[in-house]
Amino acid sequence: MELNRLLRANIAALCPYSTARDECSSNPEVFLDANESPYDNGWNRYPDPHQKALKARISEIKGLPVENIFLGNGSDEAIDLVFRVFCEPGRDNVVAISPSYGMYAVAAQTNDVAVKEVMLRDDFSLDADAVLKAVDERTKAIFLCSPNNPSGNAFPRGELLRIASEADCIVIVDEAYIDFSSEESLLGCIGEYPNIIVLQTMSKARGMAALRLGLAFADERIIAYMSRVKYPYNINEATQRIALELLSQPVDAQLAEIISERAKLSVALGAFACVEKVYPSDANFLLVKVDDADALYSHLLADGVIVRNRNRVPLCKGCLRITVGLPEENERVIKSMYAYEKGDIHR
Ligand SMILES: *Cc1c(COP(=O)(O)O)cnc(C)c1O
Repeated sequence: MELNRLLRANIAALCPYSTARDECSSNPEVFLDANESPYDNGWNRYPDPHQKALKARISEIKGLPVENIFLGNGSDEAIDLVFRVFCEPGRDNVVAISPSYGMYAVAAQTNDVAVKEVMLRDDFSLDADAVLKAVDERTKAIFLCSPNNPSGNAFPRGELLRIASEADCIVIVDEAYIDFSSEESLLGCIGEYPNIIVLQTMSKARGMAALRLGLAFADERIIAYMSRVKYPYNINEATQRIALELLSQPVDAQLAEIISERAKLSVALGAFACVEKVYPSDANFLLVKVDDADALYSHLLADGVIVRNRNRVPLCKGCLRITVGLPEENERVIKSMYAYEKGDIHR
């Protein structure tokens, strides 16, 4: 990978903000450098801009050096930084699969970067050749998501890696749902594929959506550029402390329950006459094709259950996306659908 060809010139030349605490190597005892309040209320000091303690813990969990890890204010920050680091506004473009996560296109638009969308096949499988064909001399990045949102399927690793080895640009693989998947993560491949950025998040399986903590794993040069461009204090102190604490609590039992509930919910939903298809899922949600998505959506909502209406998304006509919840929550959605089929409907 020719990183210099992919980087924006202004970013390659950037002199990043540096804090006084970055510039001193000793261990000061009195802090009069940052105009903070000296009155200790637990939160009066700026947080560590390098998130050393939290990164060290994540490094241990993921088995990757800290130099290969970026922490963002949600995955959304990492997605935005890909544009800001690599894409020249008004000139460069990215390739993204469709349907997929909406933030890739939103971040592209706010950065004035064009998106070349490549449709998945009708069964939501990945057409790797079509993705590669869409790449042109102005393409800086390819956005892939596996398991994919909203379709729920994971793509074969071999296909993702073939795209990474044949495309001469950055390849983002968003693994927000990897913990629920039977496919293996690409984390182990970033040494061999210096153009891959793997995105993960603490928002889903790890149960920390409120803390806003997204992870990017990549070649250390890419991580270094993302770190230079980010806001210095992008991860606040509360998030750093609480995430560190929550990472010591295992979630294996929760994952196992979600995966078994996913199977049960899939069977139960498939038995309704109004359900045409429940798509296979490697994630913590099910995409369900029904006879009248808007009507069922309104019924569920009026009955106190909110799901995601994907009826107007490409290839998802007639589809609702239903998150797998607690057993009693999943029973509640099933019960509400019985009422809908019986004609006991809310509109
Ligand atoms: C939920 C989700 C994320 C997570 O975003 P955060 O900003 O980390 O909460 C990322 N990618 C996809 C595809 C998602 O569905």
